[in-house]
Amino acid sequence: MFGPTNSGVRLGIGTQSGRTPPPLELWRNVPIRSSHVKVSLLGTHTCLAAWCLPPSPLTDPPSGHIGPTKIRTGQAGLSMQQLGFPRLSSTPPDNMETQQQLRRLYQNCITGSHVLHYHGILDAYGHLSFRHPSTPSIFIMPRNMAPANIASPQDLVEYNVSDATPVDSNAPAGYIERYIHSEIYKRYPGVNSVIHSHASAVVPYTISGTGVPLKPCLHMAGFLGPSTPVYDVAKHYEPGTTRDLLIRSLHLGESLAACFRAADASTQTGKDEPDHSVVLMRGHGYTVAARSIEECVFRAIYTRENAAIQTASLGLSAAYRGTGEPPTEIHYLRDDEIKGATGIALTGWARAWGLWVREVEAANLYATSG
Ligand SMILES: [Zn+2]
Repeated sequence: MFGPTNSGVRLGIGTQSGRTPPPLELWRNVPIRSSHVKVSLLGTHTCLAAWCLPPSPLTDPPSGHIGPTKIRTGQAGLSMQQLGFPRLSSTPPDNMETQQQLRRLYQNCITGSHVLHYHGILDAYGHLSFRHPSTPSIFIMPRNMAPANIASPQDLVEYNVSDATPVDSNAPAGYIERYIHSEIYKRYPGVNSVIHSHASAVVPYTISGTGVPLKPCLHMAGFLGPSTPVYDVAKHYEPGTTRDLLIRSLHLGESLAACFRAADASTQTGKDEPDHSVVLMRGHGYTVAARSIEECVFRAIYTRENAAIQTASLGLSAAYRGTGEPPTEIHYLRDDEIKGATGIALTGWARAWGLWVREVEAANLYATSG
């Protein structure tokens, strides 16, 4: 029933995708091989699949890395990489609630990376991360690979917020710019997800100086606020370091994270959350912070949408002036509208997220198995 497994690996049975909560779920331990099997009985679900839980640090061999074994029951065949955990997960597997939450976050990180690629927010570069739900001193992001190719929890790595070092010293190579993420999580305890993007539609607003600031143009982008700061890495280079605009040190990450706080301390919205949800990065791209992966993806996509709309509006206005007509004024969101529109993004991502997930599920490019 369960097929071959690595020594020390835990097995379980669950739904195929997790998108539809099962109406009935009963858990019971089955004493097979030192209680390493848990079984979920799902009322009306006909598709059952097996997954592997990470080895217990208390009872299992420390070298119990989860292997690529694929186990099938019924129609669904989910690999351990799809529903398992990366190397040396920091959460004791006995905490089932946290493990289930982690499983959902891992899946959302993988799916979110695909969604961001599908919508042109990430190409071969850029990344999405999330904070560990029960250990806030740890964050999780993919290893050094193109976001579209991320396929399983084995492609994700745990990092320490303190210094962006991997929790597991044997973890695969990570992104150079992971300091963007670590320093934002360090400075703002209310941030649970970060996205860094090089989307070309936004970059023009990072190099325009004070000439053309990014302004909120549509109701879906009220989260941008009245102004979006531009971070200039050149002001923070240290002597002898590579000047390639990348955030490749704790020092540069710290200076970028500081830009999420309003320059005027009197306007700060709270200690735990940043005042700005988006910071532009000169000649580079932009970074987004949010309370959840879904909200972060929403903000990243609509930041790009807003930039595209503003660029089109500016071009249209300039072209109209070229016909000899009097100058026209572009009407950005007013301050009172920004406040109201910000509320849309608080929950508005829920409907969009369902669509975005289906889009990437229907696209052949995005694999979800090892
Ligand atoms: Zn970058």
